[in-house]
Amino acid sequence: TRSGSVTGVQTCALPISNLKKHYSLPGSFFGQPRIVRAVDDLSFEIARGETLALVGESGCGKSTVGKAVLRLFDITSGQVLLDGRRIDELSDGRLRPLRRRMQVVFQDPFSSLNPRLSVREAIAEPLRNFGLAASGAEMDRKVEEILDRVRLPHDAARRLPHEFSGGQRQRIGIARALAPSPDLIVCDEAVSALDVSVKAQIVNLLKDVQQELGLALLFISHDLAVVENISHRIAVMYLGKIVEMAPKRSLFAGPRHPYTQALLSAVPIPEPGVRRERILLRGDLPSPISPPSGCRFHTRCPYVFDRCRTEEPELRNIGPAHVAACHLDALPKRASEGAVPEKARV
Ligand code: SF4
Repeated sequence: TRSGSVTGVQTCALPISNLKKHYSLPGSFFGQPRIVRAVDDLSFEIARGETLALVGESGCGKSTVGKAVLRLFDITSGQVLLDGRRIDELSDGRLRPLRRRMQVVFQDPFSSLNPRLSVREAIAEPLRNFGLAASGAEMDRKVEEILDRVRLPHDAARRLPHEFSGGQRQRIGIARALAPSPDLIVCDEAVSALDVSVKAQIVNLLKDVQQELGLALLFISHDLAVVENISHRIAVMYLGKIVEMAPKRSLFAGPRHPYTQALLSAVPIPEPGVRRERILLRGDLPSPISPPSGCRFHTRCPYVFDRCRTEEPELRNIGPAHVAACHLDALPKRASEGAVPEKARV
């Protein structure tokens, strides 16, 4: 169940297998080196034209996954492939031409835009870096095409970033990411800082450009309402691991891992008068320096039993393209249904 094939997606733009990113911290912990297991043995794949959302509490490692995919640092172990070619072991020089194909949109576009560069220059920079415009006229034409794509007027090209609203700046961030014609865009909390109505506009824009261009999107977010809108599949992370992964409809209709159930219970249902029972998790997210033994979720799980404390559950198929990592054979559909209290278990 470790391979990406559990998801059933055939046309992969980007398979990632057994990805680990561990950091060493100074000092020791009970005589042992202090190792942060930010991402611990994670496998998934993204197809062309697909949006895979990576969700989980802050500190679960989802942003680290995004940075590992973009090769912003060396990974501890595992493989990241682009069109069948391993990019995790390439030198900076050999990776450079491939960087064009993987771009990123961050939460705060302002911090990634040079305040003194016009929008034209901000978009022209990646085109120039990758040698994608042969003349000034071609550059102008491409910049205008990209502005059209993100629904900004052509005269925006002459203006500076501070002249734009938050939503418009995020359009500029998307324009910059689109400029080198990537295959994959990592959106790291890309709409989290925006007001609700602006958020919806940017999500719709991302959906449109994805469809028009057949992009693969890795959408990292803690906002499940947005994720429900934008994604095709969802991977739920807990403490550096994927605990459940499924097509969006199947995950929202029948979350099977107790952690996913708790996360989804906090998402408001749009129909008036319908209320979802909120499942409150006890305690905080444990430290990735010394994750709990066995199932990492056992310290907070309402269904914990002895085996959970010693044996780590593997991801296993529980439905079409739906995998979850939990020892319970019959995973409860709702936390309020079918839970067997610990003392009643053999
Ligand atoms: Fe809960 Fe045990 Fe399943 Fe982990 S393996 S989610 S502790 S029931």
